[in-house]
Amino acid sequence: MALTLHVDTERWRTQLAAAAASYPRVVTVVKGSGYGFGHALLAAEAARLGADTLAVGTYDELALVSDAFPGDLLVLVPFRTFDVARNAALGVAPPGEDPRLIHTVSRLADLQTLADGPGKPRIVVELFTSMRRHGFPPEDLPMITKQLDGVRCEGWALHLPLTTTGAHGAEVEAWIRLLEEAGAPLDRLFVSHLTPAELAALSSGHPTIDIRPRIGTKLWLSDREAYQARAHVLDVHSVRRGDRFGYRQRRVPGDGYLLVVSGGTAHGVALEAPSHVTDLRTRAKVLAASGLEATGRALSPFTVAGQRRWFAEPPHMQVSVVFLPASVAPPEVGTELRVNVGMGLTRFDQVVFD
Ligand SMILES: *Cc1c(COP(=O)(O)O)cnc(C)c1O
Repeated sequence: MALTLHVDTERWRTQLAAAAASYPRVVTVVKGSGYGFGHALLAAEAARLGADTLAVGTYDELALVSDAFPGDLLVLVPFRTFDVARNAALGVAPPGEDPRLIHTVSRLADLQTLADGPGKPRIVVELFTSMRRHGFPPEDLPMITKQLDGVRCEGWALHLPLTTTGAHGAEVEAWIRLLEEAGAPLDRLFVSHLTPAELAALSSGHPTIDIRPRIGTKLWLSDREAYQARAHVLDVHSVRRGDRFGYRQRRVPGDGYLLVVSGGTAHGVALEAPSHVTDLRTRAKVLAASGLEATGRALSPFTVAGQRRWFAEPPHMQVSVVFLPASVAPPEVGTELRVNVGMGLTRFDQVVFD
C-alpha cells in the first residue's frame, strides 16, 4: 500500500537539463519536503547535473544530502550563535572545520562569532532585500567589510520576491552600487528568484561578478506532466444511504461505495476549502463556517473516473476514506488513483521511476 510519486524519468531529466541550462552556474536547492522527491534523490540528481554547490534549508538537512552530493553545501537559514550546541548534537562540524560547509550570515553578532572562532569558516553574507526576511541592511556594509578577515567570504546573497515581470533588476543594481561604494569585495553574488532573462542581463552588465542563481522549484517541479502522485485503493465497500461507518459512526450520504485509499494526514493529505477561494484566511474561514471540517464533507484530492471525490470523513493518519456514488463504477482493490497534492507539503511512501 502506498502513496507513490511516479516519475517519467526521461521527461523529467530532460526538463532538469533544460532548466540547468537556462540558469548557468546554478546552486541547486533541496529542502523542506525534498520537493516531494526527497533530499537524497534530488542530491544525487544535482550531482548528475554537474552542480558544484547544493543548498539546504537548515542544518538538520545536511545529513540527508551529504553522502549523495560530493560538492559544497550551503545552508540557507542564517547561522545563529545559539545553534552551535544543537548543530554539534546533530553531528554538524564546528564552524571552520568542515571544508564543504558554507554558512549564511545575516547579523553582525553572528559574523563576529564566526570571525573570532577557530579557523576561517566559509560564509555567504545575506543582504536585507524587499523580502524583509533575513539580512544585513546597507548601513552595516562598512562594518561587515572590516570583519571579513576572520572568515572566508564566498559571496553576497540576495533573496528576492517571486515575480515574473522582470522587476528585480533595479533592486540588484542598487545593492551592487552599495557594495562597491562600501569597498566590499564583490566577486560573487548569489541570487534567488531572478528570471533567466534577468540573470543574463545581470551577467552581461557585470562580467567580473560570478552570478549564482539558487534554484529549487523551477528546477525540480517545472514540468508537471513529468511526475504524478497516485494512491492505491486498499478496500472498496458497497454501502446504502444512511449506513453508519467510521470512528464517529457517521451516516453515508447516499447509495454507493466507501473507498479506503492510501494517503492520510501523515502524508500531508488534509481537508481543504474549495480551491477557488485562494487567500489563506478566507479558506480557513470557509472551511470553518461551511461545517466541512465537522462533517468531513470536503473535496478530497483523490480522483476516480476523472473527478475529484468527496471525503466520506476527515483523513486518518495513513489512509483516507472517500465516498463514491453508486452511479460510478468502483475501481478494484489495487488500482492506483491520481491524487492532486502539493509537492511542498506531501511525504510520499515511495518514488518510482517509470
Ligand atoms: C528556498 C529558497 C530558494 C529556492 O526557492 P525555490 O522557490 O524553491 O526555487 C532560494 N533562496 C532561498 C534563500 C531560499 O530560502
